[in-house]
Amino acid sequence: MPPFQPDQQEDIASLVHPYTNLSTFRESGPTILTSGEGVYVTDSEGNRYLEGLAGLWCTALGYGNEELIETAKEQLSTLSFTHLFGGKSHEPAIELAEKLKQMAPCPVSKVFFTCSGSEANDSQVKLAWYYNNARGKPEKKKIISRVKAYHGVTIASASLTGLPNNHLDFDLPYGDRFLHTSCPHHYRFAEAGESELDFSARLAEDLDALINREGPDTIAAFIAEPVMGAGGVIVPPEGYFEVIQAVLAKYDILFIADEVITGFGRLGTMFGSEALGIEPDSISLAKALTSAYAPLGAVTVSEPVYEAMLDESEKIGTFGHGFTYGGHPMSAALGVKTLEIYERENIAGRVAKIAPKFQARLKALSDHPLVGEARGMGLIGGLELVADKATKQPFDPKQFVGAKAAALIQKEGLIIRPIGDTIGICPPLIITEDQIDELFDALHRGLDAAEEMVRREELR
Ligand code: PMP
Repeated sequence: MPPFQPDQQEDIASLVHPYTNLSTFRESGPTILTSGEGVYVTDSEGNRYLEGLAGLWCTALGYGNEELIETAKEQLSTLSFTHLFGGKSHEPAIELAEKLKQMAPCPVSKVFFTCSGSEANDSQVKLAWYYNNARGKPEKKKIISRVKAYHGVTIASASLTGLPNNHLDFDLPYGDRFLHTSCPHHYRFAEAGESELDFSARLAEDLDALINREGPDTIAAFIAEPVMGAGGVIVPPEGYFEVIQAVLAKYDILFIADEVITGFGRLGTMFGSEALGIEPDSISLAKALTSAYAPLGAVTVSEPVYEAMLDESEKIGTFGHGFTYGGHPMSAALGVKTLEIYERENIAGRVAKIAPKFQARLKALSDHPLVGEARGMGLIGGLELVADKATKQPFDPKQFVGAKAAALIQKEGLIIRPIGDTIGICPPLIITEDQIDELFDALHRGLDAAEEMVRREELR
């Protein structure tokens, strides 16, 4: 056991850490962060890191933004809390909903607030069910997501998620209403010699076949992240969403775009849907909605869905869904200010301008002996580490090569996230070109150290 500091010992004794290997954690211990400024954070031992994952894909405007800090203080001192239940309201929620209606990449009638991305996607599922009951189609309830999707961890959103660790031992997916179609990862799942366009066409056929197997009248919605994030940063193959949307349109199936990571500039457009030619019926938002200065999520509701909900309310009374803190005044005020900053600073345009440099440095790492695929778009990237580049042979998952590489990269002053053996990179959107160089220089040193470790421990 390494010699832990007293606060680290207390952590190990007192906390269940989310999304953590509870067994190896007892030996590795926590990194306790104590402060942040711009794109940097500092830990309790005084080490400074470039935050290469923007917290959890969320701190878009970085740390210590004075305007946001002032906004939070002001709202807390004016009205620290009121809810939106039963007709109560408040200015920040109204202003934010209006703003999102204008900005969204889809027609929006109303906005519904939650506290997180999971709650947003849970609400999407419940709204789809409510809508189909309201319009007299009670059999149309199944939701299709994709293998390797990440949509959250509540029971419905974890059921949408397509990752084994979110299902195993939790008895998920729940019930028979959650289906998963093929993952659009060309590097891993394309057949030898299959072009991206042919691969996309095959995935659309898979989806069509799944819908017909289940019965089109039983499928309510399809949900997808424009670029998959926590499943390993997977950029869809050429033409993918075009052919997928053509299938959905045949069967009256709603398209929900999960913009929790891709919303607000990450891909160089305000929303990922715009970058990838998606025309969703609804979007889920969270994370960069407040630049992570407070928890907040949102779901957009289209006119037809809202009309049906309204009719249902006339029949059965109260719309029985909502979270105490959904649209919390401080979070909503932060949302309004964050969106104002994104527009004023043309944050999406800024990303579009610096993304080529980020992507060029990322893709240059595909020459590294550990890297099987370097992939990304805008200011998000993934590096898939493999045992054999030529055959794409992965490492044995029990060797924890991704986690070990992440620890070595952290020693070089860079925080990233291991997703299995894929390294996720997603810096704050305010990162400068010099800081992009600093990020990739540290990443390169860390990967060299990881390669040395793989050789030393004979992990190939
Ligand atoms: N959807 C996507 C695309 C996400 O990346 C995440 C979180 N990583 C979620 C939903 C869940 O959000 P939260 O953790 O706020 O519940």
